Amino acid sequence: MKSVFHVMLIPTLGCPANCSYCWSSEEDSPVMSIETLKEVVAWLKNFRDDPVTITFHGGEPLLAGADFYREALPLLSDGLAHLSPAFAMQTNLWRLTPELADIFAEYHIPLGSSIDGPKEVNDVQRGEGYFEKTMRGYEIARAHGLSVRFICTFTSYSVDFREEIFRFFLKNGLTMKLHPALPSLRGSDPEKWALAPEKYGDLLLYLLDQSLAHLREIDIMNINDLCRCVFTRQGNVCTFADCMGNTFAVGPDGSIYPCYRFVGMPEYVMGSVYDRPSPEDLRRSAAGRLMQRYKEFVDRECGDCAHITYCRGGCPYNAIAPFHGDIRGVDPHCPAYRRIFDEISARLNTEMYESPGMEQSPLRRGRRKRAQPGIMSLVHKIVSE
Ligand code: SF4
Ligand code: SF4
Repeated sequence: MKSVFHVMLIPTLGCPANCSYCWSSEEDSPVMSIETLKEVVAWLKNFRDDPVTITFHGGEPLLAGADFYREALPLLSDGLAHLSPAFAMQTNLWRLTPELADIFAEYHIPLGSSIDGPKEVNDVQRGEGYFEKTMRGYEIARAHGLSVRFICTFTSYSVDFREEIFRFFLKNGLTMKLHPALPSLRGSDPEKWALAPEKYGDLLLYLLDQSLAHLREIDIMNINDLCRCVFTRQGNVCTFADCMGNTFAVGPDGSIYPCYRFVGMPEYVMGSVYDRPSPEDLRRSAAGRLMQRYKEFVDRECGDCAHITYCRGGCPYNAIAPFHGDIRGVDPHCPAYRRIFDEISARLNTEMYESPGMEQSPLRRGRRKRAQPGIMSLVHKIVSE
């Protein structure tokens, strides 16, 4: 894939929500200072020369407050103007105020948020009151013209409500991005909410069919991404690409990690913005070398898989973090990825074989009337957007 330079800034690991499957930390967790933010700018100035996407992530990034963003955004935007920074934010929206929304609108910041379906399902796994607080923020965002897309986390519990959840997104005209709950690394019952790979595979197939059945009514980002991967034979999102070396995260104290998911885990610190490390310095760090070893492991382990070019072993965090840095296998969602990639590839082949103008097998003649649009229709829609 064309390498996309992505820096995630984690202003705080604190979060006011207390979602059941998340580790969540206290609201008063330390917040990045403007001094550290200036060091981020100084570090990035000569780090690379290609355009950068900067995503504010957390914890809950809104806890940093309006004063932080009023100062941070011009510093980043002007100080890194030569990198044409594009901004984004992942937030639960609870603390979005009209004042913050004005600031984000000025910098055209799209917001990613999280809602796990209708209130009854969402609040069981995210906590009582979550739905209303997020929707209140969503209304403020909309009133200020901000774009909001929702990540929907499917757990062992909510996957049984997949139809209700899908209908909720469809009815409300919301773009869906799904996320399978992983075993928690910090809870006492790590597997309780985790979505098993087989169930994740079933869910992806279900959503593929729903996506085609409602082609003009809803976008399911993962399905679009998976189809794009197979069609172009290139990874196009971090899970399906070699993310390392192109993605970094900076924690509240200026520590640099391979991705936001590792932030707060000292064994994955690659360096500090205060030392202005070069890409080579980060590659040579223990965490950088671990990521490189994972890449080499994927080359061996997935060498025979038809999907290796774009899948690249899935997410390194999913593979490595549960074993405290030991590389014991690829992303545990591999069976789900393989299943959906196989299905999309098979359908694409069939559609191409059956496309008008192709010689048709006598056996197949006379029994073709597609009930719903196929993968090619979805691919056309994605590329023409
Ligand atoms: S570690 Fe996983 S979540 Fe993080 S950038 Fe890489 S693929 Fe994405
Ligand atoms: S589908 Fe599984 S085996 Fe194939 S590349 Fe992805 S992780 Fe590796």
